[in-house]
Parts: sequence; structure tokens; C-alpha cells
Amino acid sequence: MAAYEYETHEYDCIVIGAGGSGLRATLGMAEQGLKTACITKVFPTRSHTVAAQGGIAASLGNMGPDSWQWHMYDTVKGSDWLGDTDAMEYLAREAPAAVYELEHYGVPFSRTEEGKIYQRPFGGHTTEFGEGPPVQRTCAAADRTGHAILHTLYGQSLKNNAEFYIEYFAIDLIMSEDGVCQGVLAWCLDDGSLHLFNAKMTVLATGGYGRAYFSATSAHTCTGDGGGMVARAGLPLQDMDFVQFHPTGIYGSGCLITEGARGEGGYLTNSEGERFMERYAPTYKDLASRDVVSRCMTMEIRAGRGVGEEGDHIHLHLNHLPPETLAERLPGISESARIFAGVDLTKEPIPVLPTVHYNMGGIPTNYWGEVLSPTKDDPDRIAPGLMAVGEAGCASVHGANRLGSNSLIDLVVFGRAAAIKAGTVVDRTGGNPTLNQASVDAALDRFDNLRYAKGAIPTADLRLEMQKTMQADAAVFRTDETLAQGVEKMNGVSAKLSDIQVTDRSLVWNSDLMETLELTNLMPNALATIVSAEARKESRGAHAHEDYPDRDDENWRIHSLSWFSGGRIKLDYRPVHLDPLTGHNEGGIDLKKIAPKARVY
Ligand SMILES: Cc1cc2nc3c(=O)[nH]c(=O)nc-3n(C[C@H](O)[C@H](O)[C@H](O)COP(=O)(O)OP(=O)(O)OC[C@H]3O[C@@H](n4cnc5c(N)ncnc54)[C@H](O)[C@@H]3O)c2cc1C
Repeated sequence: MAAYEYETHEYDCIVIGAGGSGLRATLGMAEQGLKTACITKVFPTRSHTVAAQGGIAASLGNMGPDSWQWHMYDTVKGSDWLGDTDAMEYLAREAPAAVYELEHYGVPFSRTEEGKIYQRPFGGHTTEFGEGPPVQRTCAAADRTGHAILHTLYGQSLKNNAEFYIEYFAIDLIMSEDGVCQGVLAWCLDDGSLHLFNAKMTVLATGGYGRAYFSATSAHTCTGDGGGMVARAGLPLQDMDFVQFHPTGIYGSGCLITEGARGEGGYLTNSEGERFMERYAPTYKDLASRDVVSRCMTMEIRAGRGVGEEGDHIHLHLNHLPPETLAERLPGISESARIFAGVDLTKEPIPVLPTVHYNMGGIPTNYWGEVLSPTKDDPDRIAPGLMAVGEAGCASVHGANRLGSNSLIDLVVFGRAAAIKAGTVVDRTGGNPTLNQASVDAALDRFDNLRYAKGAIPTADLRLEMQKTMQADAAVFRTDETLAQGVEKMNGVSAKLSDIQVTDRSLVWNSDLMETLELTNLMPNALATIVSAEARKESRGAHAHEDYPDRDDENWRIHSLSWFSGGRIKLDYRPVHLDPLTGHNEGGIDLKKIAPKARVY
């Protein structure tokens, strides 16, 4: 057994992650007087949320008529009928209050002439239950919305005396013998010390796992650490088959050009200069939902109508828009286009390509953020002491495909919901749990084994092999053959983890060891993605399967569950929640309006 000294800390709540979701949960818990700490591997305002450009969806109706029922319908349709109906209702209903709350906390939203919060159109957001014109629902702070939210929430959390452990890397959850989460073991990157956080409630807010792929818009820190920890704790991941490709990553770097660019009037063309989206999605054109646009772009490229020397990308035009609009509404984009594509977007189109952007799947939760440990008899069974919010979680409001600007609202609505729930389930006066020493020892042993790993394969090499495999075999286009090949390859790649090589043995700023820990987290996420995708014999949302082009509600309107054990994935399924929180007669949603139908834009 590895012998390490560690310091023990006791809290009511600990939140792992300081992105939008983690900070909103931290703030909500601290505001209620719960003793709360937030642990984060990067400085809070460097979390990936800072990069969110386009905005945050809420049916404020500042630019024209809107309603939460329309927002809910769009979310249901966007999810391709895989989202949980209760959670989607909660999201759409709570969204306006959550945005006004952000406004009052101090987020500097862009304004209309009358001083209201400015809202722009975004893909898949419509009026009249998909029958009316596009709606302007996405609230924005220019093209730096995530930046503004993150800075505001960090300031508010400090004001409410939340404690921060910055540049601390969470290694593993501490679980009692009967499956209650008791806290987490973390490593202080700066001085090499180890810390055991004992908590009555642990919240995972660790973000997505975009870096399982070769080309992604997400930060290099998006390595699915929460999913890795949960998988090792014997709990499942949900709907990992669904990975969103954003239509407009800059060709080469993968840097994102927000959908807000098309919201402001941008459009895509192929090598013939044709605005091809008009052909595929006659009503909403370039503002059809992301999976649809990404798939159409890929089809154009495969049909030989891509642009550039290799015919392998597409053009995004903003050069027809007035330079003042670009400067006012999309200043960050002008800069990204210049730096990453060498393009002056007032004059030339930007070269773009569908790029991995968002993980619909994650740690299954109910709409209070409580993590689920499903069994056949009780598919909604709760894993006590553990919550998950943000991109790490799967509530599930995005189902098989997330609408643009629906993630930022998910962060604040469910970060807030988790805090409200914690306020009711955490016993403030009772003592902290007695930690399960066997679980602590197992976490220390895993850490020590990786620190002294003497295998043959450097971490960076194995990571690249995983990323290339995922990019080739679990991307926009999927067939039985490529997926089966990919599963076999990924099983091989995953097995090589036991032959990993770490060269730096120190504990202070050991980035070699940190990246190795991250790779051990990426791996179960990647494997679950490709194995559950291979098993799903239909097309739904982001999972477009060439051999099964249609959605199959009878057999496949179910959530995939992936357990990771012995380096392999075991699959099972749980039912989708079909009931809303409030029915039509109580002023809620009319179920007939959201019944499954073909998804056309
Ligand atoms: C370029 C880009 C633009 C986007 N634009 C929009 C948009 O306009 N609108 C929209 O709705 N959505 C957008 N999205 C999606 C959205 O921004 C993300 O889904 C969301 O910000 C994720 O927030 P989060 O709180 O879940 O996690 P993140 O912001 O990713 O934060 C994760 C946190 O977890 C911490 N962490 C992770 N692992 C560990 C560990 N082992 N130990 C300690 N700490 C750890 C990190 O330090 C970090 O603080 C965009 C995404 C990208 C990549």
C-alpha cells in the first residue's frame, strides 16, 4: 500500500470544477450558509466556459413573442426525442428566472435600444412549436457571454465566502462500502501535497471530454475527469453515443466560430459558391440544428463539392454584413478569424469544418442534479452524496443533440437546482461521514502506480492513438463497419494503459503525471462513446448511422448506460422520462405538441 501524508478537510459541500455550472452550484450552496469549497484544476476564470461566445437561451421575449413552451418544444425536437421530458420542462421554465438572476448578479449583457437584454437568433430555436419563424431567444454579452458569466459568478462566490482550492487536481471519489459518496482525494499541483476532502455532498462539475478526439473546439483541460471518477466508482455513464460536432470550427485549428455568426446573417457555401443549406433545410437553412448542418457539410464534401486545394472544407461568409455589425456583435470572431485562419472576415469567407464541440452524454442525474445508480427494478435510483451538473452531467435535457445556447442555460439552471436540493438534503448540524479507509487507500494506490509507471508507451503517444481512432471511427458519419472496427481498435488502445510510461516522478507541477491521470479519465469516456454508438442500430440526433438512416422510436427511444470494468464497457439501457412536470390543464405543456415526429428544419 502506498504511504502518503495527506491533509483532511471537512465541508458540507464540495464542488469539483469552477466552470459555469460548478460556480453556480458553489454560489447557491454558499448563499444558503452551507460550508462549501470549490476544487479546480485551473484558475476558475480559465475554465472552458470562458470560451462560450454565442449566448444563453431563455424565452424572455425581448425581441418578439416567445414562451417557455416553445423553448421546451425546440429542446425536445433538438434532442430528437431522447431528452427526459421533466428535465426539459424544468430547463425551459426556469430559464428566464435564471437569466434575470445572472443580470442582477452583474452579468453585462448586450442591450436593445430600450435597455432590455439583447437576444439573437440561434439554430433550432423557433416560434409556434416549430411552425413559426426563427425566434430571437439567445441572450448575449457581445460574443463573450461565457466570459462575462464566469467572471460574475466567481466574484459572487467569493462575496458569499465560498472557499476555493485552485490548481488542485481531483483524483478519485471516496465511496463508502454501500455506495455513498463521502468526498474526494485531490492533489495540489503547486506544492505536491495531497488532500482528502470529506463532504456530505460532492458535486461533479468537471465539464466535457472533447479531448478524446483529435480535433475539438474545447480546451485541452476538457478530459472528462468526472466521468472517469464515476466510472471507477462503479457507476454508469449515459448516452455517450451522442457527440456534437459544431459546423463551424476553423479549418486546421478547430477554433470555434460561434453559431451567432450565422444568427447574425452568415451563410455557408460549397465549391460551386452555392448556399447548399437552402437545398437541405428549406425553412431554417443555415440555422437548422447543428447535427443537421454538420451532416450536410460532410455530405457536400463527400460529394466532391468541398472548397480549398484538397476540397476538404466549406466556406462561411460574413463578408456581406456591415463592418459595424461585425465590430459590435462579433468582435471576438473577427479576431479569431484573423489569428487562426489569416482571414479578414469583412472581405473573405472563413474556411470551416465540423469539429467536436459538445458531449450530450455524461453522468446520469435527475433534474435536481442527483447522480443515478440505475438498476433494472429502479432505473431512477439515487447514488447518495453525489451530484453532477453541467457538461459532465446528463439530466438529460440535450438528448441526442444539444441546441446552441442551451448549454449555458443548463449550467445555471441545474447548478442552481443542485444548490436548492443540497439545501434540503444536507444535514447541517450532523457530523461528517467516517471515511471508508479502503476507498482512500485504493485512490492513493492508483495515484502511486501511475506516478511510478514504467511501461513502454509515453502518455502523449497513447493519447494521440486514442484521439485519431475516435476521430476516424466515431465521427459524423458512422457505419456498422467503421464502428465495429473502431470498437476493436479502442479496446486495444485502452488495454495499452497498463503499459504507460511516466518519466517525471516528482509531485510539484508534474504535468506528465497530470496528463496521465487525465488520459485514464478520457479512456473510459472514449470507450463508452464508441461501444454505445456501435450498439445503437438507428439514426438519432448526432448519431447518424449510414446503415440505419431512420430513427427507431419503438426500439431505441432509450438511454444507453455504459459501465466500465476491467478495461471494457458493459452496456445496458434505461427508459426515457416521457411525463412532463405539469400537464396542459395546469398551464403546462400539451403532450400532443411534443409527440415524436420526423425532425425536419
Ligand atoms: C468554444 C466553445 C464555445 C461555446 N459556446 C457556447 C455558447 O455560446 N452557448 C452555450 O450554451 N454553450 C456553449 N458552449 C458549450 C458550453 O460552453 C460548455 O458546455 C460549458 O461551458 C461547460 O461548462 P461546465 O461548467 O460544465 O465545465 P467547464 O467550463 O468545462 O469547467 C470544468 C471545470 O472543471 C474543473 N476540473 C475538471 N477536471 C478536474 C479535476 N480532475 N480536478 C479539479 N478540477 C477539475 C476545471 O478546472 C474547470 O474549472 C461552448 C463550448 C465551447 C468549447
